[in-house]
Amino acid sequence: LSGCSSDDNGRGGSDAETGGSEAPAGFEEGSTIGVALPQKTSENWVLAEQLFNDGLTDAGYEPIVQFANGGVSEQQNQIQAMVQQGAKVIVVGAIDGSQLGSQLEAAADQGVKVIAYDRLVKNTEAVDLYVAFDNFKVGELQGQALLDGLAERKGEGPYNIELISGSPDDANSKPFFEGAMSVLQPKIDDGTLTVVSGQVTQQETSTQGWEAENAQNRMDTILAGNYEDEELHGILSPNDTLARAALTSVKQAGKDTPVITGQDSEVESVKSIVAGEQYSTIYKDTRELVAETINEINLAQQGEDFEVNDEESYDNGVKVVPAFLLEPKIVTQENAAEVYADDDTLAPLTEQ
Ligand code: BGC
Repeated sequence: LSGCSSDDNGRGGSDAETGGSEAPAGFEEGSTIGVALPQKTSENWVLAEQLFNDGLTDAGYEPIVQFANGGVSEQQNQIQAMVQQGAKVIVVGAIDGSQLGSQLEAAADQGVKVIAYDRLVKNTEAVDLYVAFDNFKVGELQGQALLDGLAERKGEGPYNIELISGSPDDANSKPFFEGAMSVLQPKIDDGTLTVVSGQVTQQETSTQGWEAENAQNRMDTILAGNYEDEELHGILSPNDTLARAALTSVKQAGKDTPVITGQDSEVESVKSIVAGEQYSTIYKDTRELVAETINEINLAQQGEDFEVNDEESYDNGVKVVPAFLLEPKIVTQENAAEVYADDDTLAPLTEQ
């Protein structure tokens, strides 16, 4: 009896030695699935909590969905506890993509599958799949929207702009920024755009913790130090929360509303776009991302391979993580009604 393990689908250890077909890697229906979410730094995370709880329950699983508002060590503890509670898959929206290696490796040792959700997990082999919207594309769309908005609303160039990037511990901040700069850098080089503060690197422009307050303080300082006699025509903002923070700063400084980008289609920003204030946002339908993640969990449950559509873009430092990427959409005043037509929360905001 002791030699016969009973928790690997009833197969004895000797099967493995026959070298023939491998045991199917699936797991029982009704299993526990862990979902480790970061802090509530934008509405998409709050929505994800609800959608994972409902979607996993409907699919017959036992979900454990947790935020780590206390920070990295809380998230590390939660992941450890999920493994102890027998989770078969752990879905991770990392606070700090580089700080979960040992917890996820311990999970992988127990046969747990790890799916990085929205944010890549870095510097560890213990991540099986990345499910996200195409982050570099998000940045490209933001950069292009800034250029379009400037031409539309600020007359002929050259234009003065400032750049904001996301939290440096979030793996997404780099592709967002680099995607945007792939569009903006040539226009900086040819003199169409001037970054008056001179702050042009991801590090110089970063916003620790994605905190609105940090972006607002930085913008206050930039405006006070550089814009006494200058107009500010445009701001690259990586998401909606930081866009609204920057707009508050600009208003307090008594400046005209600049063209400003965003991301996440947050309610207040969609209202602002419809009203002609914030220029753009990005629609990354959280319902789609969660549904795709649950679809991948179902494949794992049945012992099948994950569905992947990108095997080259997401090098996490030690491996290229196979990814399933969804398409983000740009939203402006012009196309908001069309893009949000099927979204019960956002569509009514465009009917005015
Ligand atoms: C997400 C963005 C979000 C940001 C702050 C990023 O990882 O991809 O959608 O705005 O986190 O919550």
